[in-house]
Amino acid sequence: MDNYEKNYLSKRPENLCRLCGLCCRVATTSIPYEKLKQMRDEGDQGAIDFLSVFEPYPSIEDARKVSQETVDNVIEELKADGNYNEEEMTFYKCKYLDDNNLCTRYEDRLLLCKHFPASPWAIVPPGCGYEGWLFMKREEVKQKIRKVKEDLLELDLLKKKTKSPEILQKIDTVEKKMLRSIEVHKNHGSENW
Ligand code: SF4
Ligand code: SF4
Repeated sequence: MDNYEKNYLSKRPENLCRLCGLCCRVATTSIPYEKLKQMRDEGDQGAIDFLSVFEPYPSIEDARKVSQETVDNVIEELKADGNYNEEEMTFYKCKYLDDNNLCTRYEDRLLLCKHFPASPWAIVPPGCGYEGWLFMKREEVKQKIRKVKEDLLELDLLKKKTKSPEILQKIDTVEKKMLRSIEVHKNHGSENW
C-alpha cells in the first residue's frame, strides 16, 4: 500500500456518498478535451479510462441544463484559483448512469470511479456528501505544511549554530525535502498557509 492509498484512499468513508449521481452526470477534468483525446490516442491509461465512460456535453450551457449549480461551482472554484479558461472547459456525462442515479456497471466500475473524490482538492458538486470530509482533509494538509514551515525555521536556527560541514549538508538535504512538500501544494496556495 503506497502513502496515497494508506493516508487518503483507505480512509475515505464511502458511506458519505448520497447517491445523487451528480459526479457521474456532470463531471470535468483539469485536462482540456482535445488534449485528453490526444493522450488517449497515445495510450495514456487515465485518458483511455476517462473517455471510455464519459461523453462530452456539446456545450457548457448543455451541462448547465442538467445541473447549473454544479457547473457554476466548478467554474467559480477554477476562477478563484486563476485556472479558468472557458475555451478549454468541457463537461461530461457518464453513459453508464441510469435514470435512477445508479451505476449500471457498479461491480465492474473503473478505479477512477472507485476513488472519487480522489484528492482533498477535488471539486465536488454542491451538496456532495464528501464536502465536509474533504474540507477536513484539506485542513489536515494545511496543518502539516504549517508544521513543516515551523520546522524549517528551527533548521535555520540550527544552521546558524553549527559549523560542521557534515551536519550542514544533512540539514540542506532535509530542507530541500521539506521545501518540496510545500511546493507540491503550491497550486492550492501553500505559500500562504
Ligand atoms: S456527488 Fe458526491 S454524494 Fe453525489 S454521487 Fe457523487 S460522491 Fe456521491
Ligand atoms: S461508471 Fe458508474 S460510477 Fe463510474 S462515472 Fe459512470 S455511473 Fe459513475
